[in-house]
Amino acid sequence: MKKYDVVIIGAGPSGIIVGITGKKQNPQKSFLMITEKEKGLVPCGIPYLFHDLDDVKKNQMGPKGFVDAGGELLIDRAEKLDAAEKIIQTAGGESVQYDKLVFATGSVPTVPTFIEGYDLDNVVYIKKDFDYIAEVMQKTKSAQDIVVIGGGFIGVEVAEQLAKFSTKNVNLVEMEQHCLSRAFSPSATIKSDELIRQSGVKLHCNQKVNQILGEKGKVKAVQLSDGSQLKADVVIAAIGYRPNTKLAQNSGLEINSNGAIQCDNYLRTNQKDIFAVGDCSSTSGFITGRTDNIMLASTATAEARILGYNLFNIKLIRNFPNTISVFSTEINQVAFASAGAIEQVAADAQIDYVVGKFSDKDRHPATIADSSDLCVKLVVSPGDGKIIGGEMYGGKSVGELINVLALAIQKQVTVYEMVGFQIGTHPLLTTAPTKYVLIKAAEQAMAAIARQ
Ligand SMILES: Cc1cc2nc3c(=O)[nH]c(=O)nc-3n(C[C@H](O)[C@H](O)[C@H](O)COP(=O)(O)OP(=O)(O)OC[C@H]3O[C@@H](n4cnc5c(N)ncnc54)[C@H](O)[C@@H]3O)c2cc1C
Repeated sequence: MKKYDVVIIGAGPSGIIVGITGKKQNPQKSFLMITEKEKGLVPCGIPYLFHDLDDVKKNQMGPKGFVDAGGELLIDRAEKLDAAEKIIQTAGGESVQYDKLVFATGSVPTVPTFIEGYDLDNVVYIKKDFDYIAEVMQKTKSAQDIVVIGGGFIGVEVAEQLAKFSTKNVNLVEMEQHCLSRAFSPSATIKSDELIRQSGVKLHCNQKVNQILGEKGKVKAVQLSDGSQLKADVVIAAIGYRPNTKLAQNSGLEINSNGAIQCDNYLRTNQKDIFAVGDCSSTSGFITGRTDNIMLASTATAEARILGYNLFNIKLIRNFPNTISVFSTEINQVAFASAGAIEQVAADAQIDYVVGKFSDKDRHPATIADSSDLCVKLVVSPGDGKIIGGEMYGGKSVGELINVLALAIQKQVTVYEMVGFQIGTHPLLTTAPTKYVLIKAAEQAMAAIARQ
């Protein structure tokens, strides 16, 4: 039986980054990655396959970087773990021994078994699977009436892409009052809903899909909670993801209330020499430390880098083990992003907060040709002035400005420090130095604290 120093199960973003980082740090150690399929997809690019990219090969991703770094691949499914003997068995009949084992088995879409008709033909999911998505693309190409269930990021992004085909009738059903309501406050979601509608998607908020109706085994409509029906050649269920942890569970690893593998600050499970990283591993809220279920590629790869350094011994102390969720998306050419505790998250956790808001153009003067509105809101703890969250929308600059804010949250920057933030500005690239949006919003929050 072949033995490896490190065996990684899964070749998604977290498996690949653990593999590359770990192998570069430990070139003398042997690494094996077991992956069900060699061809993968950039998960975050999947929605854009439905129109803009239009060819599944344009969104391909795989473990080449890991192999280039000296790792070995086994295309197979890891099926059984003997933790006492440190042996992994695969569906193809291989057995390999490990010194360290990494679960990077990711997440799978939630199947709405509670909705009658979920198993009809042409009810599909946004799986992170090359061949499956290629098939879904074929189905959506020939479909005229499409219903997307779920107005989270993935549902919204997919619906917006499909609505770019003027011949298609795209309906999006969301049970909350607004789409994207887990990531943004109502002031942003009212705007994003309007943009979703303007993109051609017919939006049905405050509505549940009660039943999926079919004819000869194939979907033909969905029935909503208000009794109305929407015609459907294809139904795309985008109602969330759950950690893929069956193998871990069967192997006796501790699983938390969200179905994720429970880990400590260094991604170590309750079993010696077994780690878990990415969507399959536990996350905790950054203020409360309570169990959370954040599943993002950015978070997964951040964890994976830490684990890559610490596989054999803890070399990189993790000062900030909890998870700051940083979301971003673009709807009808307007970027939306949030980081950390937005207002409703703070309120739900009974955290005192004030907000500081500021809007301006993202270029200066505002007459510069490609300037866009830029609206920023900071969520701040009034007791000490620490920035605990924020959200923003506007032009493409939002995609990176939110990362500045995420670093400020992680470093526990206060609004008093933000006012002294030394910035670089340029007419063609940023807001004006006289009213840099993060600084102005911090001043507004300071004023709100002073008023208390
Ligand atoms: C449509 C979509 C859009 C997204 N957009 C964004 C975005 O814009 N920004 C962002 O930060 N995040 C985004 N995400 C989330 C992001 O994709 C996930 O957080 C990320 O994929 C997690 O990576 P992972 O490596 O932990 O898991 P996964 O990507 O799920 O990879 C797990 C891998 O393990 C393999 N595997 C599982 N079990 C076994 C087994 N027993 N044997 C062998 N192999 C196995 C699977 O086949 C899979 O390849 C998006 C997700 C989706 C679906």
